[in-house]
Amino acid sequence: MKLERKFLLLVTGIFVFSSLIGWLVFKNMTSEINRDWSRQFVERQILFDKYRTFSPLIKEVALARKMAAEPALVHMALHEDDPEARRNGLAEMERYRIRFSDHTFFAAFALSGHYYFNNAAGQFSGDELRYTLSQDNPGDGWFFATIAQGKDFQINIAQDRHLGETKVWINALIRSGREVVGIAGTGVDLSEFLAETVNLTQPGIHNFFIDDDLSIKLSSDPKLIDYASIAKKSTQRITMDALLNPEDVKKLRQTLTQLRAGSGNDIANIWVEFQGRVFLLGVARLPEIGWYDLTLVDQKNLGLIKGFSYVPYALGALFLMVLLILGFALHQWILQPIMSLKKASDAIQAGNFEVAPPLVGEGEVGDLSRSFRHMVAFVRNSHRELEERVRERTEALHRLTEIDVLTGLLNRRGIMDRFDNELARLTRNGGSLGLLLLDLDHFKDINDTFGHAAGDLALIGTARVIESHNRPYDYAGRYGGEEFLVLLPGCSRDDLRVIAERIRGAIEALALEYENRRFSFTTSVGMYHVDQPEGRDAMLGKTDKALYLAKVAGRNCIRMYGDDTA
Ligand code: GH3
Ligand code: MG
Ligand code: MG
Repeated sequence: MKLERKFLLLVTGIFVFSSLIGWLVFKNMTSEINRDWSRQFVERQILFDKYRTFSPLIKEVALARKMAAEPALVHMALHEDDPEARRNGLAEMERYRIRFSDHTFFAAFALSGHYYFNNAAGQFSGDELRYTLSQDNPGDGWFFATIAQGKDFQINIAQDRHLGETKVWINALIRSGREVVGIAGTGVDLSEFLAETVNLTQPGIHNFFIDDDLSIKLSSDPKLIDYASIAKKSTQRITMDALLNPEDVKKLRQTLTQLRAGSGNDIANIWVEFQGRVFLLGVARLPEIGWYDLTLVDQKNLGLIKGFSYVPYALGALFLMVLLILGFALHQWILQPIMSLKKASDAIQAGNFEVAPPLVGEGEVGDLSRSFRHMVAFVRNSHRELEERVRERTEALHRLTEIDVLTGLLNRRGIMDRFDNELARLTRNGGSLGLLLLDLDHFKDINDTFGHAAGDLALIGTARVIESHNRPYDYAGRYGGEEFLVLLPGCSRDDLRVIAERIRGAIEALALEYENRRFSFTTSVGMYHVDQPEGRDAMLGKTDKALYLAKVAGRNCIRMYGDDTA
């Protein structure tokens, strides 16, 4: 896989993984914030209901219970026929009537079934005994039901059939010892009460007050209020079953049970479906009146952190951007420099050492390209040096093939090569060329007399003599066993003669020593001089002819071709 694809794949993996984690953390966090916020909102709402608007009712309940426990009232309940007991009891209740917010009181006694009542206007002062309760009268059912239930107090919302008013009735049991002897309390104007509590309508917020049986005690919708629930059969009651689905009702019941077990100030929250929407239901127990305050808040109203559907798209767009930038950076900083280095490397591989690798990239890549350039320069120099050496060696080798090992002069091939060159030059530029051919005299005798090694010394000595007479542009070579050929370009016929004579004389004068035996020898020299180039073999033949004449003439002398052989 290419580096770029691999890298981008890795980045994708990391990004997807970290986005997933980030998204989960974010979701978790927001849902936690939402839950917390909702809980706080509902708690605030409930505390608001409970203490700001519901406290008057709580106060009334406390007052009603206090009144029902007054000894004068208990005494009256037991001794209603005693005018003094009756007077004292009524006087006591009259004092409480002033303190009740509604300025009404009532008291009903179990023994007599008498129902006493006075209203805010004090309309029935002196005539407080309003009527006698009867078990046969359904409208009086609340009395017998409350006594039968034996709870210290009850709050009942009912229409007073005599007064024609719907009131929140606070019924507190009058006890003599353990025996229930009556019920006393007050009524609170329902419409006023509703206006202060459940009718404080806020959009998306619904308020109910229910009892242990889930029957609805108060609601902004009067139709939902379970009036006179005390006296009703359970099937006739209006309960939360009418508003919530069975599943949520079950949750609500569990919540009530938990709250009853708690301190009394707890607030519970559950999510329920209400009117086809999701609501947060806050539940608080009101132990003073035995009810529960339910506050339903539409999820919409909770101002929750929501609507994050754009986040994945935003993340996706961000990812694409990051990918693009990374891809570009990768290309620009790494891949492109590497590719241009590779191009240079390919060229060098193909043998083009003259290519200069580009200085590309920054940082480490820049360092790499610099180091690559140095390496190429080093390789190029090494290559050049190597080539130079090979050339030198080849030349040396070539020279060696043209050198006579014994004398150090050119060998036959070498001198023939120079001969060809000189002839070519003569043809090209004109001029003259002189030839000397030397053959040592009776050389066989030296070998025979002094040994072959002495013969070799003689050959070496001859070579040194010839060399010492050569001009810089003359060539001397060992032409055969003890025959030497000398080429003298640009040399006149007379000069040729002089040089030949000098060489001959010098060889004659040479005294050698081998194994303490001195010996000397002589040479015969054939000469030939041309101003016009001739064939090489023809020239050699003529020189050899001159040499032959020297031999014939008695050796140790020089002869010029053409002098006397024309
Ligand atoms: P001349 O030329 O005067 O007629 O008599 P010569 O004795 O020199 O006769 P020739 O030229 O026929 O003999 C050449 C001899 O040189 C034969 C051979 O043994 C000897 N010779 C040739 N090459 C070498 C060599 O490299 N070293 C030695 N020591 N002798 C050589
Ligand atoms: Mg010879
Ligand atoms: Mg000879």
